[in-house]
Amino acid sequence: MEPATDAAPTVTSEASGSAQPAIRVCCWGTRGSIPAPGPATAQYGGNTPCLEVRLGDELVILDAGTGIRALGTSLLAEQDAPRASIFLTHFHWDHIQGFPFFMPLYNPASSLRIMGPKQLDVDIQTLFAGQMGPIYFPIPYEAISAQTVFGHLNEGTWEEGDICISAMRVRHPSFTVGYRIERAGKSLVYIPDNELEGDDPQGLVDCRQELVNFVGDADVLIHDSMYTDEEYQAKAGWGHSTFRQALELADEGGVKRLLFFHHSPDREDAELSEILSDRREMALSRGFGFDIEAASEGNEILI
Ligand SMILES: [Zn+2]
Ligand SMILES: [Zn+2]
Repeated sequence: MEPATDAAPTVTSEASGSAQPAIRVCCWGTRGSIPAPGPATAQYGGNTPCLEVRLGDELVILDAGTGIRALGTSLLAEQDAPRASIFLTHFHWDHIQGFPFFMPLYNPASSLRIMGPKQLDVDIQTLFAGQMGPIYFPIPYEAISAQTVFGHLNEGTWEEGDICISAMRVRHPSFTVGYRIERAGKSLVYIPDNELEGDDPQGLVDCRQELVNFVGDADVLIHDSMYTDEEYQAKAGWGHSTFRQALELADEGGVKRLLFFHHSPDREDAELSEILSDRREMALSRGFGFDIEAASEGNEILI
């Protein structure tokens, strides 16, 4: 596999039976917690979460981790007036750090809808303005010249045309959601940060069945798989899941394809490939019938 670069993603799989996929996903950032660049992470990528999701003529961007910087550059090279909807899962640094570096923000011809879960009584526009305050960032929020519309989606469903996006609160510090995107009978579920087992500091209990329904029969599930079972022992309550836990959720929900996501910044490529191979064997031995991959920066998923 080629090292991750700023170049446009390359296609690595084909949707069967149709020329135009209902949903096309490009991974611009797959790493969790903090960027982890360097030769040891070049295969799966060092940028923090950002997915480009093409739904016919509509563009949805999931999270604004450091991967969104190169996506913005790509969009401006492709069109003078980018139009997109950015859906944030939550506002931990690794999911917003790229936001001020998303160059379409500074283009008056851009049209951007920005959606995410309200955090207590603080609206998300205020959160972004705070992120760009002078102590943290040199360019003021007022420098944004794109046409922007902000909205909240804590739970429930947002629909436009033939696109349906549902949000569900998951087990992770702050108000964090996962998204399910549906179009033309196909579905993508994106849950980058979620602790599937153990005590939940947010007090969310008994949501397992709701979560199983939420991921139910998804064509693709992209889920938090930050730890091995051994690592989890020391990190229970930190808001993240293990590879095994993600596999078991995918099996329970009857998903067709699982991608491990939110890779630990300490996880080098060779180790992740080895874990992927081990988990595939484990899934086989337990009779799990879905495809298993580790999300890598620069790849494209056709659904
Ligand atoms: Zn995260
Ligand atoms: Zn988080």
